[in-house]
Amino acid sequence: MHILVTNDDGVLAPGLLALAQAMQELGKVSILAPDRNWSASGHVRTIDRPLRVKTVQIGGGITASACDGAPSDCVALANAGFFEEKIDLVVSGVNSSANFGHDVTYSGTVTAAMEAAIWGIPAVAFSLDTPENGGQPDYAPSAQYARQIVGAAIRYGIAPHLLLNVNIPALPYEQIKGIQVTRMGLRVYHDKLDRREDPRGIPYYWAIGSMPTGIPERGTDIGALADGYVSVSPLHLDLTAYHFLPELNTWEWKQQNGPAQGTSAEG
Ligand code: MN
Repeated sequence: MHILVTNDDGVLAPGLLALAQAMQELGKVSILAPDRNWSASGHVRTIDRPLRVKTVQIGGGITASACDGAPSDCVALANAGFFEEKIDLVVSGVNSSANFGHDVTYSGTVTAAMEAAIWGIPAVAFSLDTPENGGQPDYAPSAQYARQIVGAAIRYGIAPHLLLNVNIPALPYEQIKGIQVTRMGLRVYHDKLDRREDPRGIPYYWAIGSMPTGIPERGTDIGALADGYVSVSPLHLDLTAYHFLPELNTWEWKQQNGPAQGTSAEG
């Protein structure tokens, strides 16, 4: 079992070291991760410049490859044969904050796993629900759950082109109530426009607000975390809105000639 470990917080992030050490008990571990923070970078493929890779020590006597591309670039590079041995499983994280609901489209942590899913490689993304200003997070409980969840994924197998999105509450291991299988919940973002001026009087903008919240509905990732459980959501990349297909099929595509609806040609 050859396991690729990557993340979006950068190769030196403590969450990556904790995850890599946990995976060493399950197989041969190779690390190829971004050389800097790519949080909220979404699903990226670098196609207009080459990717460069350096070897770095990340602590614990572990050697890693640091790439100047995005997390999804790292997975694509590994899939294309960067390592001599083919990759059997991709794990991403442990991210330093939660990735719930629509976060999965922003998250470099989750989109690294999505890149693996595209290539039919089983993948699991891990994120720790660190509270804002929560201090230095403890990744030990996440590592313990990562071992259990990836162990199960190896035993049972993940169907091709699926990934698991795992969120872990920021609680001591003994206070975590267990694992809940969930669906994506609804994140609530609080974006607001902050227009400022630089010293030359040219405006610049922030379009972010306070930390996103969410609706803690039972059965969702957000609900599970609010109740003190680890959340495991199976995701796939088929974003088709099946419930809307019948209605969309009733649309008349041909442009109607004549006056717009609701007005009369003869006045
Ligand atoms: Mn991150």
